[in-house]
Amino acid sequence: MTRPMRVVLLAGGGGGAKLAAGLAALVPTIELCVVANTGDDFEHLGLLICPDFDSVLYSLAKQLDTKKGWGRDGETWHVLGELTALGGPDWFGVGDRDLALHLLRNSMIHKGYDLSRVAAELCGHFDIRPTRVVPASDQPVRTVLTTTEGQLDFQDYFVGRRCQPEVISIDYVGVDDATPSMGLTAFAREGIDAVIVAPSNPLLSIEPILRITGMPALLSDADQIVAVSPLIDGQAIKGPLAKIMVELGRQPTSAGWAELVDTQHPNFVNHWIFDTQDQRHADRFAGSPQTTACMNTLMNDEGAATALARAIIQALLSTNRQGCA
Ligand code: GDP
Repeated sequence: MTRPMRVVLLAGGGGGAKLAAGLAALVPTIELCVVANTGDDFEHLGLLICPDFDSVLYSLAKQLDTKKGWGRDGETWHVLGELTALGGPDWFGVGDRDLALHLLRNSMIHKGYDLSRVAAELCGHFDIRPTRVVPASDQPVRTVLTTTEGQLDFQDYFVGRRCQPEVISIDYVGVDDATPSMGLTAFAREGIDAVIVAPSNPLLSIEPILRITGMPALLSDADQIVAVSPLIDGQAIKGPLAKIMVELGRQPTSAGWAELVDTQHPNFVNHWIFDTQDQRHADRFAGSPQTTACMNTLMNDEGAATALARAIIQALLSTNRQGCA
């Protein structure tokens, strides 16, 4: 390919934000549009907060607190301290620098900007161009979990209840009225060569993107769709994925993850990437029309994320590859 490969990454704020930074290191060899999950978005203190979008943005701008895996680096907490002293809500950690972004976003929303326009402005302020981060949709989508302790909005479950309640089912409220965002459709108009499904939570980060009306059809125009497992040796690196998979009667392994994604979106993905530790799971897919490759998927630093991004792009360029390297 003589021109840069045009890549869309579907991402949540953890594994997604890390792989986004790895792929951005390959620009201008590739052109990158990161689609951030909006199912985690919520209203707090009267402000719309977009946690996954912001984690991706901070990661690309090298301003993410990588120890915590969320929020800004070098953060201070004066406002939260004062808010707590005044008896305000302290369950959601908004740092001072982070709050500045929320205020800026909401001032744009008050001016009538849609989320795609806000995103474009923020990408400019954070100087991450030519890479773009776009919301999955400009219309609201909200992930709601039905648990043994009742129905919980995503942040109440994730932050408020620390993912403890047992999950029975998950709904993505608003997906029927939501369509792919203007930011994404503008990128897609010039063609998508490859879609990469990040090693993000398939139920809490990827499904709220793929359930949006018209999203699979838009992305299926890509020549190749590759998905990277968020599980290594039966464990999530962080977060409740393995626990939720067990609660929903699924095997918490890379093979179980691939089966889950393939059940929800049959034949959408054509390349699976498993960690090298999961070779035995990849072997189970031998003979299927989809290819499977194994590589080191643990992104414990920037170098590892870039190495994984490079290996994925290499695998995409050699489409005939079958089985594990
Ligand atoms: P969230 O929005 O914070 O839930 O973040 P994501 O959905 O993007 O990512 C959560 C998932 O990322 C978890 O299931 C983790 O297992 C996975 N994850 C995090 N870091 C890594 C990594 O370095 N490698 C792989 N393979 N998965 C990761």
